[in-house]
Amino acid sequence: MCELCRRRFIRGAAALGLTGAAGLFSSPLMAQPRRGDAPASKLPARGEFTIANAHVMTMDGALGDIPGGSVHVRNGEIVAVGKDVKGGGQKIDGTGMIVMPGLVETHWHMWNTLYRSFSGDKPEEGYFPTVARFGRHSCGWPQGLPDTQSADQGPIESLARDWKSWSNEGLITLGMAWRGQFRAGPIKPEVYQPEVDNARKLGLPITVHVASARKAVNQIEPLYNGKLLGKDVQLIHTLSASPAELDMIKQSGSAVSVSPGSELRIGYGYPQISEMLAKGIPLGISVDTSALVGTSNLFAVLKLARDCENAKAESEFKLPARKALELGTIEGARSMGMGDEIGSLTPGKRADLIAISTNALNMAVVTDPAHLVLEATGPENIDTVVVDGRILKRGGKLAALDTPKVVAGARAALAGVRERTKWR
Ligand SMILES: [Zn+2]
Repeated sequence: MCELCRRRFIRGAAALGLTGAAGLFSSPLMAQPRRGDAPASKLPARGEFTIANAHVMTMDGALGDIPGGSVHVRNGEIVAVGKDVKGGGQKIDGTGMIVMPGLVETHWHMWNTLYRSFSGDKPEEGYFPTVARFGRHSCGWPQGLPDTQSADQGPIESLARDWKSWSNEGLITLGMAWRGQFRAGPIKPEVYQPEVDNARKLGLPITVHVASARKAVNQIEPLYNGKLLGKDVQLIHTLSASPAELDMIKQSGSAVSVSPGSELRIGYGYPQISEMLAKGIPLGISVDTSALVGTSNLFAVLKLARDCENAKAESEFKLPARKALELGTIEGARSMGMGDEIGSLTPGKRADLIAISTNALNMAVVTDPAHLVLEATGPENIDTVVVDGRILKRGGKLAALDTPKVVAGARAALAGVRERTKWR
């Protein structure tokens, strides 16, 4: 199961173009991995193309929006962006399209996408009891590991040693999903410290859920005092951080990922987006878990992020739409340490971009592009997806995935989990 999951994850991530995957998975409970077939073998080749006459939202502060603009891509790299770009290669008509960077999702328990919307309305059907039950078969968070036991470091050491062969030409990064210092109660240093020490010895980025609920107070300061924050550490949720603790996060260089979709659904409360932006903390937005959120539509989560901040401030104008889109592109990329590679349509960066069609009934007509993109866009409006220079979706159709096959595979996998866990 674990090995199968892992190969699927790698293939899926390659096909869907999920970048910035640091920390999305690592499994101390995972069996020794085996190498699958070459993940990139079925992907379209990187070529040369120019999307012309589109409304280009570069999300680059210096370049801004370019109405009637073009984006020229060659061999995976953005060669030129502008109004008078000569271009080259295949010509793609961008009339009626908004072209922008691919969205940057910063934290996702991809394995429980299989359990989309399974979290119910009774305590025994809630997210944590169910995920603990199914998580023992899964790649990712070591669910069920006793709080008195350090995670086995063998599998992650093995992966780190051989990572080049798994990384799909560097598109997927290995990181450690750390359990942290708190679960049901505090975890002893002799249990958690070796886990962090080993990740740092291997040079792996670390991601950790902390101060998730409003009531989970005073969890940041012990991390800070224990030198467990830093540029290599991404904090998830962090809803209950005090102003003093936000200063500690800023000072340490740690980034934060907030997930308004799951945080609102599970009752954690409102995220501290404005407060973190005011401190200058690197910040990204995330789906977190489809088990709670259902949809994996990051536009919808970005919109929730904006709406949370406006609701908290009781102001229509607290978080501008464009700022919310920045969090989902360039700021998210920076928070993952990838701001020089992706997150904006800037010449020299890798070609990760999307073209949104505004011709559908739910998108017409274009007034303010930033508000329109944030508030109206659904996955069905994404005409074209380019990842690392490969066109993976065109004319609304996936180029590298057979949708019925993917759905059939997911159904079969879920049936297997139901059987093994005696889940009715
Ligand atoms: Zn999470």
